[in-house]
Amino acid sequence: MTDRHPIELLLSDPTKHPTPAPCTQDPGPRRAQGPWTVLIVDDDTDIHALTRMVLRDLTFAGAGLTFASAHSAAEAIPILEANPEIAVMLLDVVMETDQAGLDLVRHVREVMKNGFVRIILRTGQAGQAPEPRVITEYDINDYRDKSDLTSQKLITAVTVALRAWRDLKTIEHLVHSLRRERESLARAQRIAHLGNWEWDIARDAMICSEEARRIVGIPLHSDIHGVLETFLSISHPEDRARVEQTIQHALLELTPFEFDHRILRPNGEIRWVHEMGEVIRDADGKPMRMAGTMHDRTEQREAEQRLKIAASVFEGAMEEAESHMLLTAKVFENAVEGVMVTDRSGRIVSVNPAFSVITGFDADDALGNTPAMLQSGIHDELFYSRLWHDLLGETSSWRGEIWNRRKNGEAHPVWETITAIRDRTQTITHFVAVFQDLTAIKRSEEALHFRTYHDSLTGLPNRALFHDRLRQAIGQSGRSDDKVMVLIFDLDLFKNLNNSLGHTVGDRLLKGVAERLRHFVREGDTVSRLAGDTFGFILRGIRNSQDVGVVVRKLADALAKPFYIDEQELFVTASMGVTLCPEDGDEADLLIRNADMAVARAKTAGRDNCQYYAPAMGAEAERRLALENSLRQGLERDEFLLHYQPKVDLRTERISGMEALVRWRHPRDGMISPAEFIPVAEESGLILPLGSRVLKQACLQTKKWHDAGFEHLRVAVNLSIRQFRQADLLDDVRAALEESGLPPDALELEVTETLMMENLDDIVAILTRLKALGPTIAVDDFGVGHSSLTYLKKLPIDVLKIDQSFVRDLTLDSDDAAIVTAILALGRSLRLKVVAEGVETPEQLAFLRNEGCDQFQGYLFSRPLEIEAFSCRLAESFPAP
Ligand code: C2E
Ligand code: CA
Ligand code: CA
Repeated sequence: MTDRHPIELLLSDPTKHPTPAPCTQDPGPRRAQGPWTVLIVDDDTDIHALTRMVLRDLTFAGAGLTFASAHSAAEAIPILEANPEIAVMLLDVVMETDQAGLDLVRHVREVMKNGFVRIILRTGQAGQAPEPRVITEYDINDYRDKSDLTSQKLITAVTVALRAWRDLKTIEHLVHSLRRERESLARAQRIAHLGNWEWDIARDAMICSEEARRIVGIPLHSDIHGVLETFLSISHPEDRARVEQTIQHALLELTPFEFDHRILRPNGEIRWVHEMGEVIRDADGKPMRMAGTMHDRTEQREAEQRLKIAASVFEGAMEEAESHMLLTAKVFENAVEGVMVTDRSGRIVSVNPAFSVITGFDADDALGNTPAMLQSGIHDELFYSRLWHDLLGETSSWRGEIWNRRKNGEAHPVWETITAIRDRTQTITHFVAVFQDLTAIKRSEEALHFRTYHDSLTGLPNRALFHDRLRQAIGQSGRSDDKVMVLIFDLDLFKNLNNSLGHTVGDRLLKGVAERLRHFVREGDTVSRLAGDTFGFILRGIRNSQDVGVVVRKLADALAKPFYIDEQELFVTASMGVTLCPEDGDEADLLIRNADMAVARAKTAGRDNCQYYAPAMGAEAERRLALENSLRQGLERDEFLLHYQPKVDLRTERISGMEALVRWRHPRDGMISPAEFIPVAEESGLILPLGSRVLKQACLQTKKWHDAGFEHLRVAVNLSIRQFRQADLLDDVRAALEESGLPPDALELEVTETLMMENLDDIVAILTRLKALGPTIAVDDFGVGHSSLTYLKKLPIDVLKIDQSFVRDLTLDSDDAAIVTAILALGRSLRLKVVAEGVETPEQLAFLRNEGCDQFQGYLFSRPLEIEAFSCRLAESFPAP
């Protein structure tokens, strides 16, 4: 008898499950997905065989299915427990008992707390159907009578369920990463004693970071309304008039401001804070928001205060050098800042205990020595000459960041204030330096930076950094004859292994692989984990195809040795794809796409092999050729038109603008959905003429509506990634605006979030140039792409459009609600407008309104409309006076 788990046996027994269908193509952004696991629970063996036969060739998102089987609820439970990644459960209602299926559902949802697995119920007879209440309560996806379950219906039901499962997982990931970002930001703020706040002037409401609330001493989760009053009430009474004046002045003049004031905490404690902020204007130039930071400088202030006292002691009692040294030491005895006093010639005459803690030198080491003992050698002469200039000048002091060296040789940053002490005749007698160790703050900044550019599991560079490095490598290769080689590979059947042995083993295997790869590369090369089980290499200095062959063979050899995890011997193979710069392209995105395509071909070719990118890539292209031709004809015959879907302002409940959505009226096939032809148009490049026509038409039509008296209307036009990358885009936009006479700010350009995740510098440059023409920029389908906060912050964007998938189940699913709330908060903190799309029910709308969403769009208000119909809706929305 073996002690292996039933599912392991299942998965390792080739007779018991079909091999997953080969992956023909790997579209879109790479994510770890498939093969998808489906659990069949039924006491009838024939049903198992039948189901597998029907579903055997089904693929979803490019991957096939893996099956697990149980013949009773009791058998199913341990399988579900061992495999949290089971996506769909096909479940017979009547097994051991009449209710066995439903009991299992209840167990899964309530005891195991597995809310992910999608459930499709099947029964032998009508009349066994569960009540609708049960279906909603236990989140059952589908319910079918077996007699009604044709192959096609089963395939559809499973596909729908798989999509639902994948969406749930994506959301979980987003919530998780948003939460992580938020936590690390909060941590950095706590260390730096730096809080931030933002005042929505129209709603007179304020949001503050945790640290800001801590500094002020107000409860963490209270709402703040009546912002100015609150601001004044927390200020020290003596500072209030000045604070009010400064803020009013900023509001009036719309200027940035900066001031120090004292905060009087509710418990009577006083904090010294430095405030900096600015006013954000709306389109009419009126103040809309005010945002700022507050830096708690109480500790620093106290140290300076002590320094002043010490200075006065020096001044008062110059002759008694011994005694005032003693006094100084007393004043600084308990300070957390390091203090060092030197005489006029620079000899150290006194240090406090914190000095020793920070520098590692004790008083005996220091006394009689000079501050040169702390020099790190990092600063140049100019730095010191400026320092001395300030110190000997009018202010008699210098303040700034300086790198010192500890006794153990380690260089570290400190924030230092040096003051020259003068006697009554203005002759310098001593210098006093007070410094604070900045190591912890720097570390947290670095950690933040590291996290942004590295994969948390393996510590390897992530996709963003891979991209940057690739661009660097391409840039540098231009100067020599050497080539840059990009190699991407997927581990074969990793998902199977993950499912059968569990995630912990899967994770450790990925780490093991990463470790081996790290040793494999030379200095200057990059190895990265791009996603899931996908890794990428950038190798420089490649001279010819022989070099390429050597690398590939070495990599295959490196992976071929077994991995030992938990005393198990695991073997992996990889499907590799290779592309070369400059032969196959000289742009990072293009090269990555090429390599991805080659990986897909390697998989189709039976895995465990390497394919090279070649421009003519296969069958897929041919199949699309027909559609492409028909598209080209359609363009010539002008078969494309635009529909407009209203966007509604949540505050006024009026139409504030619309999204232009392209339609293809095919002479034979009728209306064809953009979801079908846009991808082909993109691939063939036909999106460029189509896109520029859409831009023109949208601007012309909007101008007509402006002329008809609806001057506030703003039109949103979708831009595809391909359009975005072409040099003519700017000309197209400029031409569309000029030819139509539409005011530039009445145009909004929608770009997808996936685009934002690549190649930050380029994107920022293009967006900036676009914006200079006047249009605003919206990020479409926001939420599905996992963009990081740091990225978003750097982008010159104006609007986030929450992806419909989150809006859809908003009122049913607390995860979706959490995402939407998080996106709205994100929008507020980045000062972006947030639009919700796909709003279909009043409940969804109520939720969005309550959470402070700005605009919405969706069937609830209107479907996309033809021009006439849209004009009618406009007239209804704005009845003539
Ligand atoms: P998208 O940008 O996300 O557009 C929104 C889609 O959601 C539209 O589908 C719209 O009809 C649909 N929609 C709006 N409200 C609701 C609702 O309440 N419920 C549901 N279930 N759906 C709703 P459509 O028109 O089929 O467009 C599909 C996609 O095609 C668009 O997604 C966009 O990515 C692309 N597309 C459409 N027109 C253009 C275009 O002119 N240029 C480019 N590059 N892409 C376009
Ligand atoms: Ca859109
Ligand atoms: Ca969208």
